[in-house]
Amino acid sequence: MNNQSELRQRLTSQWGDGACLTEAIDRAPFETDFRKLFHGEALAILQPNSVTELQSMVRFASDHRLVMVPAGGNTSYCGGAAPDKSGNNLIISLKRLNKIRSKDPLGYTLTAEAGCTLASVQEAAESVERYFPLALGSQGSCQLGGNLSTNAGGTSVLRYGMMRDLVLGLEVVLPDGRLLNQLNGLRKDNTGFDVKQWFIGAEGTLGIISAATLKLFTKPTQYSTAMIGVAHIGAAVDLLSRLREYFGDVIESFEFLPESATELARQHLKLRDPFETSPPPARVLLECAQPRAWPELPERLAHVLMKLIESGLVLDVAMANSDRERDHFWSIRERIPEAQTLEGASIKHDISLPIGQLATFVSEAARVVQATIPGARIINYGHVGDGNLHYNLSPPCGTTKGSDTERQFLANQSAITRTIHDLVASLGGSFSAEHGIGQLKVKELERYEDPVALELMKKLKVAIDPLNLMNSGKVVK
Ligand SMILES: Cc1cc2nc3c(=O)[nH]c(=O)nc-3n(C[C@H](O)[C@H](O)[C@H](O)COP(=O)(O)OP(=O)(O)OC[C@H]3O[C@@H](n4cnc5c(N)ncnc54)[C@H](O)[C@@H]3O)c2cc1C
Repeated sequence: MNNQSELRQRLTSQWGDGACLTEAIDRAPFETDFRKLFHGEALAILQPNSVTELQSMVRFASDHRLVMVPAGGNTSYCGGAAPDKSGNNLIISLKRLNKIRSKDPLGYTLTAEAGCTLASVQEAAESVERYFPLALGSQGSCQLGGNLSTNAGGTSVLRYGMMRDLVLGLEVVLPDGRLLNQLNGLRKDNTGFDVKQWFIGAEGTLGIISAATLKLFTKPTQYSTAMIGVAHIGAAVDLLSRLREYFGDVIESFEFLPESATELARQHLKLRDPFETSPPPARVLLECAQPRAWPELPERLAHVLMKLIESGLVLDVAMANSDRERDHFWSIRERIPEAQTLEGASIKHDISLPIGQLATFVSEAARVVQATIPGARIINYGHVGDGNLHYNLSPPCGTTKGSDTERQFLANQSAITRTIHDLVASLGGSFSAEHGIGQLKVKELERYEDPVALELMKKLKVAIDPLNLMNSGKVVK
């Protein structure tokens, strides 16, 4: 019997069916990432039922010098939850650690286990008339542990910040099996370093998050949602600045969609477009949310937008007049990635810039894209209120799957990504706004990160995980 089958037998006899899966068919969904960019082979999938069981699994891995790969909903974009090809990685799925441990509407906090889906955390907050604002297109399947470990962003960062801003306390199983218990809901706690923050955005390289205490907010009772036609991204940025002067923090989401993106949604998903008859060159999806009814809000918003039409900044406006219409506007935004997948091959970038540099970036990037891949289509949509663009490319119109044009397009991927990321860096931006590093962007981190920051990251990794067993090969090598 070889080492791999002996270890599989030992794991199964220790934790049994359900908590330990070793068959190829059960391992398969965990052995590749959401975008199918990485394929590996796992020794087994471990699914602890309790934190104590998780600790004993981590101790087993540490004793046998096995690399551990924490897994949430496997919806992330950089291959962080996929194993390598060695056949010796233990995937530790948190899906059975999915209890809401407590809700404190008075203190505006909630404590949930890492395997809770984001949607179930939002529902738990709503059940006590509170609001948890993190919102992502993947919220039905991504898990709290994954959201914390990727420091997820989403559509309400403008008002509430990223995942790291929404956490008060954390419980983490360290690589040697010890439990770090920082699960408190204190708003003020200046007792030395903020240790919990080391694990947020670490993509499972420092420990396995088992639970978190989260900040809750007052539940919005009223939404005003509008699709707003604009000429270009510079106009969208000006519009945000004008609207913030009028509405301040009431603005929760400000999403940018160029016509190249909405066209794909119309074509592949047959989504009705409020601007069907004359689509503008670009549009913004704006959402204002209010905790208390402010009956004048929709009227006031419509009035301000009309004034901005007169000034020429806004080209057209469609207000959502019902919850159904609001959901429809959001589905146009949320389903752009799906529409682009249906269109065929793509080259993706998740970048952020100081908001005042977005227009310069977009015009400069268009020039280099066209010089490198003539005819490539630019599908640059995203959370523009946060300076974040998903700067994606599709091959020239009419390119068929498997054709020479598609091959040529994909052959340019590294060159174009290098140019785009260099441009972003020269304008003071980031090559990874919200999707993290995983295994996809390790070299980019080496290239663009401040060398002192990179050195500190590597020292922290060695200090917490001296045997390099926790998701090794991801983020920092
Ligand atoms: C349709 C769609 C829309 C999306 N929209 C957004 C968006 O708007 N904003 C955004 O930021 N992201 C977005 N994403 C990306 C993704 O959903 C997020 O990154 C999400 O936070 C990942 O959670 P997950 O549970 O799927 O994590 P996984 O993919 O399972 O894991 C991600 C990383 O976290 C580690 N990890 C997972 N659980 C733990 C744990 N308990 N302890 C330690 N490490 C752990 C893994 O090892 C891996 O490195 C989107 C994805 C899709 C498919």
